[in-house]
Amino acid sequence: MKLIDAHVHVGPFFDNYYSPLFVHQLMSSMKISQYAISSTSTCEENYSAVISEIKEIIKLDGDKILPTLWITPNMIDNRMYMLNEDINWRCLKIHPGLHPNCWDLKGKYSPKVLELSREFQIPILIHTGDEIECNPNTFLELINYNFDVNFILAHGRPLQQAINALERCPNVYLDSAFMPVNQMVQCINLGYSERLLWGTDMCIPGYYYNVNLKKYYVKKIKSFRNQVDGYSFERVTYHNAKSLFG
Ligand SMILES: [Zn+2]
Repeated sequence: MKLIDAHVHVGPFFDNYYSPLFVHQLMSSMKISQYAISSTSTCEENYSAVISEIKEIIKLDGDKILPTLWITPNMIDNRMYMLNEDINWRCLKIHPGLHPNCWDLKGKYSPKVLELSREFQIPILIHTGDEIECNPNTFLELINYNFDVNFILAHGRPLQQAINALERCPNVYLDSAFMPVNQMVQCINLGYSERLLWGTDMCIPGYYYNVNLKKYYVKKIKSFRNQVDGYSFERVTYHNAKSLFG
């Protein structure tokens, strides 16, 4: 089975540290074909750690890695995009919870992220969630005005707003990180099997749920497999990401 995970992290998360080796071993144990990964060292603005963690995971997993460049206001202010590094970035990420009011249509930092997305022809992953600054609605105008750029709304949350974005903007995808399987199924049943990406936020569920990550992962994917048709399953777990990340 071929499977792409569109949302994975390496690096520190509160008291936990998920090393490149740990992530590599976990993803290999589940035979994941490819995964888009960004470093949580970005949250600490530890950019040298970002580069070394991403390079290390590439060394371990080669072409399986779809490196995701997590952009901060500080990086833009100081012109540090890490583009000189020998890394083939396949996705950009922004986090409006960490940096509120920076990335919407009127946000000071949106133009640069859009420029990078266009230059490299790669999608922008937006951390979305229940807080108003992270709501899909906050980004609807930005997404609508930039219809040539693809956006991934991470976590598909809140669900109604995420579905509304799918409905209104053909350039929107959701990723399933932390999404309950029944909500993923709801998206499929509404006809969005081509707009949902398998994403898991690995290894962060380990922090919130204190679970065995492999068991958590396999259980979720089996549950999803059992509730949708084969076409939708393959679109979500492989083909959608393959065409989006190239
Ligand atoms: Zn994440």
